[in-house]
Amino acid sequence: KRGADLLHDPLLNKGTAFTDNERSVLGLRGLLPPRIHTQAEQVTRVLESFRRKTTDLEKYIYLISLQERNETLFYRVVMDHLDEMMPIIYTPTVGQACQRWGYIFRRSRGLYITAADRGRIVQLLRNWPYPDVRMIVVTDGERILGLGDLGANGMGIPVGKLSLYTACAGVHPAQCLPVMIDVGTNNEPLRNDPLYLGTPAPRLRGPKYDELLEEFVQAVHQMFPQACLQFEDFGNANAFALLHRYEDRVCCFNDDIQGTASVTLAGLCSAARLSGVKLRDMRILFYGAGEAGIGIGDLVVDALKAEGIGEPAARRQCWFVDSKGLVVQSRTDLVSHKLRFAHEHPPVQDLGAAIEAIKPHALIGVSGMAAAFTEDVVRAMGRINPRPVVFALSNPTSKAECTAEQAYTWTGGRAIFASGSPFAPVTLDGQVHVPGQGNNAYIFPGVGLGILASQSTRVTNEMFLVAAQTLAGLVTPKDLAQGRVYPELARIREVSAAIAIAVAGNAFDRGLTRQIRPDDLAGLIRECMYQPDYENYV
Ligand code: NAP
Ligand code: MN
Repeated sequence: KRGADLLHDPLLNKGTAFTDNERSVLGLRGLLPPRIHTQAEQVTRVLESFRRKTTDLEKYIYLISLQERNETLFYRVVMDHLDEMMPIIYTPTVGQACQRWGYIFRRSRGLYITAADRGRIVQLLRNWPYPDVRMIVVTDGERILGLGDLGANGMGIPVGKLSLYTACAGVHPAQCLPVMIDVGTNNEPLRNDPLYLGTPAPRLRGPKYDELLEEFVQAVHQMFPQACLQFEDFGNANAFALLHRYEDRVCCFNDDIQGTASVTLAGLCSAARLSGVKLRDMRILFYGAGEAGIGIGDLVVDALKAEGIGEPAARRQCWFVDSKGLVVQSRTDLVSHKLRFAHEHPPVQDLGAAIEAIKPHALIGVSGMAAAFTEDVVRAMGRINPRPVVFALSNPTSKAECTAEQAYTWTGGRAIFASGSPFAPVTLDGQVHVPGQGNNAYIFPGVGLGILASQSTRVTNEMFLVAAQTLAGLVTPKDLAQGRVYPELARIREVSAAIAIAVAGNAFDRGLTRQIRPDDLAGLIRECMYQPDYENYV
């Protein structure tokens, strides 16, 4: 490419950083202001503009526009300022972006597939301009964060997650494909909004839905046989059904079920170090028995089994409260994935009573119910435990079961706290408590990179267990001293690389890969990691 074509290609464009020689040779002379800037100088300009925006949504729009102009610069900025950028390109701001998608829309990104595309999905995939797709994040927008059904507006999630694959683990941007399967929405105000960009029809359900998804999975397999498929923010029933249908057939996983499980298990391992209560002795009460809750429960059971504990005993350490109360054997309204955690116990109606009955060491909020961890609830956890574990994982921030400040204040600073969306550190009686962000971004980028680098043909639960153990192992005594149950975000590339090495190693051990094991696994991973540096074109 040369001339204006080059300037309009976000993967190649360097803007004012094109050298004098490149400007001559590539037909750029006159198309750019004369002053040549280094990437570092460009970063200064970007940060200046970014920080002058007065709302987070404006910052989001600015960053996405930068990504559309100059992807290298976008990733340079995001990677070097992850603490500042991640809450904008991901939770919580991405939630606002999805809610306003039809209003903030500029240039299309990713692939939209509708029910009308039945029979021609391969053709649509062929329209995608980059042939070597390795990571696909797909949603149908039914359960966007804790915000519910946002239909085609949910495209912000695959776009944001794939940005994190690149920023956190160095998956090359040209290998990433965001997909929205637009099957309508049951969000009526959205459907009636003239600026809504999706199909304004009620959601497709039943066999027609399943057939569309089946065609999609097969088309992906045909067009991008090396790709790993990440199911993201599907509604509860479809999420479990799709994972069950495809996990043994293609290279796929569900991040809400498996990624959440992995990051939370790592947080529990750190909590065990802090509280002195070993995972094998921990009673865990989940508030919410959906994709996230059941996923975490299952992986905790896997972790305990790996320690030699029998499955029934391991399951008995995990208790669930759903919208109808404590999940117990005598209930007749339980869907299948809850049954394996339905223990013998008299019925209990609400969370407060469940805490008194179960006396959990850890309380994990994955309900999407804002403020459900009331002062009474948190104080009860503090009464039962010297170091109560309280994880309020529901996203975005507005849906968190409690805030960091509440958790620390109501327990006299004793709580071991983590949340799904970020909270600032809290100072209490002169002591600074740093809340952990139980963010899947610690896990899925590294898992994806490990899959991609090893050319694994499957993603397994064992890989998420290995990922959790690796993440937990990177939490330092210094982190723990501040109350942090996760490493600092600034170390995310190192974390992702370590997880990728562990996951790739597991794939080779299990014979799941298309290639033979190299001697230098770390070298293999390093080679696969994209760096946002400008290349010389002449
Ligand atoms: P889901 O599959 O829809 O499950 C939601 C669960 O919450 C269901 O079991 C539901 O009960 C229960 N629930 C709803 N209202 C309740 C109430 N008033 N009292 C008790 N339980 C209630 O959703 P999900 O995928 O698990 O996600 C749930 C939340 O977790 C979302 O806010 C999401 O953003 C968050 N999440 C966070 C992370 C992270 O931070 N790492 C990752 C994934 C998800 P029923 O089963 O009775 O309907
Ligand atoms: Mn999600």
